Amino acid sequence: MCADRAAGVAQLKELIRDVPDFPKKGILFKDITPLLKDPQALRMATDLLADVFRDKKIDQVVGIESRGFILSPILAYQLGVGFVPVRKKGKLPARTESVTYDLEYGQDTLEIHQDAIEKGMRVVIVDDLLATGGTAEAVVQLVERLGGRVVGLAFLVELAFLNGRERFKKYDVHSLVTY
Ligand code: AMP
Repeated sequence: MCADRAAGVAQLKELIRDVPDFPKKGILFKDITPLLKDPQALRMATDLLADVFRDKKIDQVVGIESRGFILSPILAYQLGVGFVPVRKKGKLPARTESVTYDLEYGQDTLEIHQDAIEKGMRVVIVDDLLATGGTAEAVVQLVERLGGRVVGLAFLVELAFLNGRERFKKYDVHSLVTY
């Protein structure tokens, strides 16, 4: 990492706030809203992520509901491509492809429009935070079922101690701020 980038990432880290016991007891929530409301930090975060993918011939940016929707359209705009939402079950109006995956307690279902990605399209998947990687792995499955090629995954924050990255050995995973 070059010195400028490292200094920028350190500034971003200072703007991520720990909120204990949210949304439930025992979870240390990484709140990115102080970073988002800071104009320089918001620009730097999206610029740094966009730089990684600028010469990778990306066709679509796929964002994961809900905090993944904040950065992904900005990244799509910067890369000059479109944005595709992956949403929780029942929210997308047209024909969907869906995937159910395990959470710590129970299961969740995510959906994508069947016509959102064409065969062979080069895709970046974006979310605010990589924890265990279960959510992003489910989205990789959705994109690949539609014939998309996952060129990379981008996260603002990575909880590296949870080893979520291990699930993505075949893929390029980029995160800015690591804990
Ligand atoms: P996972 O599937 O375990 O990688 O969880 C990732 C999803 O859960 C992301 O969409 C995050 O927004 C959210 N998430 C998990 N843990 C945290 C945390 N400690 N702080 C904020 N968001 C989290």
